Amino acid sequence: MTLNQADLSFEDALASALAGTPPEERWLVPLLCSSDEDAPRLYREADRVRQQRVGDDVHLRALIEFSNYCKRNCSYCGLRHDNRRVDRYRMSIEDIERTALEAEELGYRTVVLQSGEDPWYTRDRMSEIIRRIRARTHMAITLSVGERDYDTYRAWREAGADRCLVRIETTDPALFRALHPDDDLEERKRCIVWLRDLGYQLGSGVMVGLPGQTPQMLARDVIWLHEVGAEMIGVGPFIPHPDTPLRQARGGTVEQTLRLVSVLRLAFPWAHLPATTAMGTLDPNGREKALQAGANVMMPNITPVSHRASYQIYPDKICTTDDAKTCASCVSGRLASIGRTIATDPGHVLRGADRQRAPVCDPPRRRLVVLP
Ligand code: SF4
Repeated sequence: MTLNQADLSFEDALASALAGTPPEERWLVPLLCSSDEDAPRLYREADRVRQQRVGDDVHLRALIEFSNYCKRNCSYCGLRHDNRRVDRYRMSIEDIERTALEAEELGYRTVVLQSGEDPWYTRDRMSEIIRRIRARTHMAITLSVGERDYDTYRAWREAGADRCLVRIETTDPALFRALHPDDDLEERKRCIVWLRDLGYQLGSGVMVGLPGQTPQMLARDVIWLHEVGAEMIGVGPFIPHPDTPLRQARGGTVEQTLRLVSVLRLAFPWAHLPATTAMGTLDPNGREKALQAGANVMMPNITPVSHRASYQIYPDKICTTDDAKTCASCVSGRLASIGRTIATDPGHVLRGADRQRAPVCDPPRRRLVVLP
């Protein structure tokens, strides 16, 4: 048992969460540690809050993994610099633009540009990519390219990027150090604060089931994400990669991750929470389970198939052989199977007055914009 004396019972913790009490360990930890009997209730309540606040629509973010080069050596990641077994690739500016145009043709309203920390994509090159996509599509643009300096993030914002994701993974100083031998927790936190100050829609996230991670650490991650004002939060189970120093570690589970997804929905009722591909890798229905425990976003992969298998932060990633059309069709079917609809708007984060216009109890729309 990992509870402390100050922690509430499951019932009281759930009541505190539903009453809108700001995140604190005494209610976060009991929910993160909820028993197998209590957990379905947690998921149901989170699902109810999700429906009341952000509705039944699921926002689809078309993911382009445009480079798997990385200068860093995160100890859990298959793309780490020292892994010589990776077949490295970089997409040209023209190829990225072409893939983004294909995303819009398929009906996506957001494109996510994701890579390792690859300095080849300088401030100017990324600005050019962003400007081209901005000029030729109506999609929202999300960046997920790691840590950069303030002026670079500012230039990309001015070029037209709407959102930026920098995952914190863990806020525990010792665990962060152990996982990131060439990185600094304070530096990463600083990047996330810069993004907020620059007016990006702010994304971050944590990994679940890391070696030595405790529910108390996860609770403190949630508190920090709340303090910094995260608006999009991705969580996925840690899946050990055979070509990394953590190859022997145990890894996280779908159940641990679902509890965190639900806790995040209760602590951040208006946030965009993705059902991550890592969930679908551990369990064929993992993403649907996350969508029924508080999540409201999916990120179908539209990276050209020739590169998909080479972008493996964790092993056995799903959807590495299906082309963009097949992925879109698969996602549509999965959402229909659980009675969810595909959003027809870009899915910007809801702030201030926008929340009053949120689709509270909107009648379900069945129109799928991605493929007939
Ligand atoms: S987690 Fe990101 S920064 Fe770290 S090695 Fe992998 S791709 Fe690079």
